Order: sequence, then structure tokens, then C-alpha cells
Amino acid sequence: MRATLMYGAGDVRVETVPNPTLQEPTDAIVRIVAGCICGSDLWPYASMPKSDVGSRKGHEFVGIVEELGTEVTGLAVGDFVIAPFVASDGTCDFCREGLQTSCRHGAHWGGHDDGGQGEFARVPQASGTLVVVPAGFDEELVPSLLSLSDVMSTGYHAAKKARIAPGQSVTVIGDGAVGLCAVLSAKLMGASRIILMGRHAARTDLGREFGATDVVAERGEAGIARVKELTNGDGTHVVLEAVGLKTAIETAIAVVRDGGVISRVGAPQFSEVPLGFREFLRNITLTGGVAPARAYIEELLPLVLDRTIEPGKVFDRTIGLDDVPAGYQAMADREALKVLVRP
Ligand SMILES: [Zn+2]
Repeated sequence: MRATLMYGAGDVRVETVPNPTLQEPTDAIVRIVAGCICGSDLWPYASMPKSDVGSRKGHEFVGIVEELGTEVTGLAVGDFVIAPFVASDGTCDFCREGLQTSCRHGAHWGGHDDGGQGEFARVPQASGTLVVVPAGFDEELVPSLLSLSDVMSTGYHAAKKARIAPGQSVTVIGDGAVGLCAVLSAKLMGASRIILMGRHAARTDLGREFGATDVVAERGEAGIARVKELTNGDGTHVVLEAVGLKTAIETAIAVVRDGGVISRVGAPQFSEVPLGFREFLRNITLTGGVAPARAYIEELLPLVLDRTIEPGKVFDRTIGLDDVPAGYQAMADREALKVLVRP
């Protein structure tokens, strides 16, 4: 089969690799219907040291179950399934608490294992990991169902961890796919005012469609001043940070209201958060982290199926497997917001 490998910064190749096979009785083999390139794939695309063996890529996909190990329950060959970006058994204490990213028998896609940017994938812990789409395959819903693998669940995680209450004001930092899904999630949870910080007009326009009431294109001090101006100098009850750069978390601290919550889902590209005495005096809560997408898919799935939400709108380009290297470059150049891959 064909699959995507990364050999170093800027070096993505689509190659022929052995088809995956069942290795554990808890595995499933899934034929991938659609995968995608993630904003988080762009970090290694910018910085991965050269490798001779390469690393399999992709951690978001939907597909059809082809084969099942003998111990897999709750799934049938032919099921249309969503794979969250981390595998989990669904039975350990962390899984039962809804923190499947800390699963005691969890596994990640990519590296030496299968990825989502290919034709097939071996899914570990299939019973716990995969979510069946009860309505079966629906071509029109593929983008939105695929978004539940990662970006929509991650945006929703940001909003959930912030415990947004109806009527609260929210700032979302970042107009990438996760930031836009965070806007949609804040709206779902009843936020009355949603200020989206982003400067890419096509993206912030989609942000307005998803529920943003204000857009702040300025960055740094000017951006902070603008949010303050919009909120009588106070800042917002909640800040959802979907970038991961230190400047973004500094902006979050500056625009959160005293007593407010910063929830971060941008993978941090820094090791320390500047929460010192000044912030102590302001009673700021910092929460968020890697999203247990599996915890939210069943909750969000009905809203996708009945068209209440259409997070799949974040995909603005669809390509075949051979064009995946160009797809990485398009996202790195910010020409594409999020690229959907049809093997
Ligand atoms: Zn578990």
C-alpha cells in the first residue's frame, strides 16, 4: 500500500510500504477513507532532524473496518469508523475518567507504527479506540466526521476545560483549524461574546460563521489593547489558546479577566508559563492540555449527524495521496488552512 513518511524537515515522501496486518487480538485493520494533515505535523516539518528510516505520518482518519482481531468487541467488518488521534483501551481507570490520552495501554499513530496519511492502518485497542458512525458511510459528512478525530474535539476540549458558562465572554487566540473549532465550541456552550484573534481574513470569516462576534487582527501589545478596549478594560472570562507559542500564552494572560480561566490546547513550543506574583494576585486559572478526543466524539457525533454543527468547513483543500508533500508545503505556507487527504 501507499503511505506518507517524513524523512526530515521539509522532506515528506509517499512510498509503497507493507500492508498492515493484525498483530494483537485487540487490533483492527481499517481502510482509510479520508485522513488529513495536522497543524501539529508542521512542527516536525519545520524542524525534524534527517532520518534514514523515516517516520510514518497522520493521526486523524475515518475509514471502513476491514479485519478484526479475535478479542475485538463492538465492531463489525464494514463499519464506518472514526479514529481519534490517540488509541486507548476504553477500560482502564483513566479511560473511564474520560482521559483516554493517559490510557494505561494507549498508543500513538505514526513513528514506526501506522499513520492516517496512507491507505490502511492497524488500529491498536480497536474496541476502545474506534467510534462507529451509526448511520453508516455518508460521503457528504466525511469532512465533519474527520474533524472529530482531532481539531473539533481539541477545540471542544479547550472550551470544556474552561467550563464556559452561558453568557460568558471568551477570547480565542489563533485562527487555525483548532482555534476556529474552539469558537464553534464556545458558541455551543453558550458564550455571549466571542473575540477571535487572527489576521487571516478567509479564516476569521469562517470564525464569524462559527460564532465569533468580534475579530482582532492586531498582534502583541496592539492586539491586547484591542481586546481590552472591547471589554471595558477587563478582558474576557475565558481565553482559549490554540497556538502554542509563548507570545500566545502571554497574550492570554494579558487578556483574561481577573478570576478568569485560560485553557490551552496549542501544543506548547516553550517550557515555562510566566505565571508569577502578578498573576497570583489576579486569581487566574490555567488549564487545558492534550485533548482526549475519544471522550468527546460520542457527544459531538449526533450534532454532526443532525447538521447542528459543520466543523468540516475547516478543510479548504482536498488532495490525493500523491499530493501530500505539496499539501504539507501549502499548509506551511499558510495557503491552505487544513488539507483533507483521500487515499
Ligand atoms: Zn485506557
